[in-house]
Amino acid sequence: MAAIKGKNTKPELIVRRGLHRRGLRFRLHHPDLPGRPDLVFPSLRVALFVHGCFWHAHQSCRYYRVPKTNEDRWREKLEGNRARDKRNQIVLKSKGWRVLVIWECELRDRVEERLDELVEEIRA
Ligand SMILES: [Zn+2]
Repeated sequence: MAAIKGKNTKPELIVRRGLHRRGLRFRLHHPDLPGRPDLVFPSLRVALFVHGCFWHAHQSCRYYRVPKTNEDRWREKLEGNRARDKRNQIVLKSKGWRVLVIWECELRDRVEERLDELVEEIRA
């Protein structure tokens, strides 16, 4: 699973480059935190996940469609990923982290505006 999803996916690179250009500094894939957040801002206590809409089962999103072949297995796997994301977020919050999620579909249009908003959310 981890091997399929991979690190350094395109949406993640867009976010990393965009935030770096805006002067934010961060750690990547913090191994000690639940769910290994894609970007971590330690001094701000912010954990940011960049979620692919398919693998993380983005609800009501046109990029999340359960494949028709082996539909039940796919659904179980993808909804399982979503449930795990939720659990990880709850644990992070309980440890005093602010959790932010940006979805792949949010990076399709108005990317620069969305990144500007994200910077404000991170610094809030
Ligand atoms: Zn989406």
